[in-house]
Amino acid sequence: MTILQLFIDSTFSDSESGNTRDIEYPADSTIHLTAAEASSADAERAIAAARREFDSGQWRHTTVAHRGDILRKVARRLLKDKETIARLETFDTGKTYAECEMDVDDVASVFSYYADQATASNGRVVDPSVPGISSKIVTEPVGVCVLITPWNYPLLQASWKVAPALLAGNSIILKPSELTPSTTHYLVKVLIEEGVEPAAVQLLLGAGADIGPTLTESPDVDMVSFTGGLETGRTIMKSAAGTVKRVALELGGKNPNVIFADADLPAAIDNALTAVFLDSGQVCSAGARLVVEESIHDKVVDELVRRAREIRVGDPFDSATETGSLISSEHRQKVHTYVERAREQGATLLCGGEIPEGDLAKGYFYPPTILDRCDQSMDCVHDESFGPVLTVETFSGDSDEEREKNAIAIANDTIYGLAGAVWTADASRAERVARQLRHGTIWINDYHPYVPHAEWGGMKQSGNGRELGPTGLAEYLEIKHIWHNTQPAVAGWFANSEDASATAGEANSGDN
Ligand code: NAD
Repeated sequence: MTILQLFIDSTFSDSESGNTRDIEYPADSTIHLTAAEASSADAERAIAAARREFDSGQWRHTTVAHRGDILRKVARRLLKDKETIARLETFDTGKTYAECEMDVDDVASVFSYYADQATASNGRVVDPSVPGISSKIVTEPVGVCVLITPWNYPLLQASWKVAPALLAGNSIILKPSELTPSTTHYLVKVLIEEGVEPAAVQLLLGAGADIGPTLTESPDVDMVSFTGGLETGRTIMKSAAGTVKRVALELGGKNPNVIFADADLPAAIDNALTAVFLDSGQVCSAGARLVVEESIHDKVVDELVRRAREIRVGDPFDSATETGSLISSEHRQKVHTYVERAREQGATLLCGGEIPEGDLAKGYFYPPTILDRCDQSMDCVHDESFGPVLTVETFSGDSDEEREKNAIAIANDTIYGLAGAVWTADASRAERVARQLRHGTIWINDYHPYVPHAEWGGMKQSGNGRELGPTGLAEYLEIKHIWHNTQPAVAGWFANSEDASATAGEANSGDN
C-alpha cells in the first residue's frame, strides 16, 4: 500500500518517529492509504529548513515574473492530471468524483489568477515634497508561512494559500487535514516538478493538535494562515500571540438564505437545495439556515421536502449520484446528534434525520434533512453542524419595512459572518438587505458561485482575513516604506548641531 511521506528540507521522508496513520475511504470505510504522521521533531526540522531558505536561499530573490510563470505551469499540469487528482480527492473525502473534477478546475483557475497578478505592481512612489528625497513603498514576502487547511475542500483550500504565498516569495510549510492528505501531497510534487525551489516548500502530514503548537508558537514562523473550525482558530490565535505573528483565519459559518415572498420561487427553491446539500452540507458557506417569509413558508418548504427526498445519495464514483458521504463516522455522529437535539428542543423533522441502513451502511452517509419551525434557541440554528441539515425560520411583519427589518435581524443573529443570500424581485430591497447583512459574501438571487478575482472571507467570528483577489495576495506581503535622502545634511535639531556641522566641515576640508 502507498505510504505518503513528509517533504522536509527538499527530501521526501518518513516521520522521525516512524508513526503512520491509515486513511479511510469514507464511502465504504476501507483503508485506502497510509500516511506518515509528523511529530514535533519533524515540525522543528520543517521550520528550520523553511527559515534557512527564507533567510539565505534563492526563492524570494527570483523575479515575480519567474514565480508567476511557474504558477502558470502548475495550473496547466493540474488540469492535465485532473483525473488522477479527482480520484485521490474522492477517496479521501467521499465527495462525488464529478465535484472533485470541478474542484481541480477551480484550483487551476486560482493558480492562473495569481500567475496573472505577477504583472500587477504592488509598489508606489510617494512624493513627500522635500527636495532631495525619494520615497517609495515596496512590498516584500512575509517570511516563513505555515498554511493549515481542512478536509472539506482539501486541494482548493490549499490553493487559496499556496498560490499567493509562493507568488509573493515566501517559504511555506503546508499542513493539510490528517483525514485528507493525498491531493496536497500531490500538489507538492507538482510544485517541485514545475520549478518551485524545493527548499521553499515543506509538507507536514498528521494531526494538527499534536504539531500545531510547535508551528504556531515558533519565533521562526512569521505567519499562520488557517482554514478550519472556530475552536481551532481560537486556539491558534492564542498560541500565535506570544510571538505576535501575523494570523489569517478563515473559519466556519452559519449562513442565512433569505427568501422574500416576491422572489422567483422555482429558482429560489432549487438554489436553496444546492445551498445546503452540495457536498452533503460540508461547505463553510452552506446555506444551512433558510429564513423564509411566513406567507410563502408552506409552498417553499413542501417543495423543498419533496425535492430533498429525491436527492440521490450514494457511490461517489457513480455518475448518477448527486451527493456522497460525510467525512467520518465521528463527524456523522456529530451531525446526527444535532438533529436529535433539535427535535428535543422543539424543531419538526420533515425529512431525513436517520442514519441509513442497507447498501449505504458501509459508508458514512447521511440523508438530506430538513428541520422546520426552528429558532435561535436551538443548537442546530446557532452552531455549525456541517452536514446536510437545513433549519427553517420564518419572518413576518405588518409592512414591507417591518418584514425587511425582521428578516435582516434573524439573518444577522449569529456569531458567524461568512456568507448569505437574499432572494427578491425588488432590486432596491436586494441592495438594501445585502448592505445590511454582516457576512463577507452576499449573493443576490443566487447561491455559491465565487471567482478567484473576488475576495472571500468572514466577518465576526468567521475569521479575520481575506483570501482570493488582490487582498488574498496582500495577506502574504509586508509593506515597507523606503525614504532615501539624496542630499544628506545636518538636521540642526539639537543645540550643538552648528559645532557638528563645523566639525564635519573641517573634517571634509581636511580630507580634501
Ligand atoms: P479543524 O479546525 O478541525 O481542522 C483544520 C486544520 O487544523 C486541520 O489541518 C487540523 O489538523 C488542524 N489543527 C487542528 N488543531 C490544531 C492546532 N491546535 N493547531 C494547529 N492546527 C490544528 O477543521 P476541519 O474539521 O478540518 O474543517 C471544517 C471547518 O473548516 C468548518 O468549520 C468549516 O466551516 C471550516 N472551513 C472554512 C472555510 C472558509 O473559507 N472560511 C473553508 C473551508 C472550511
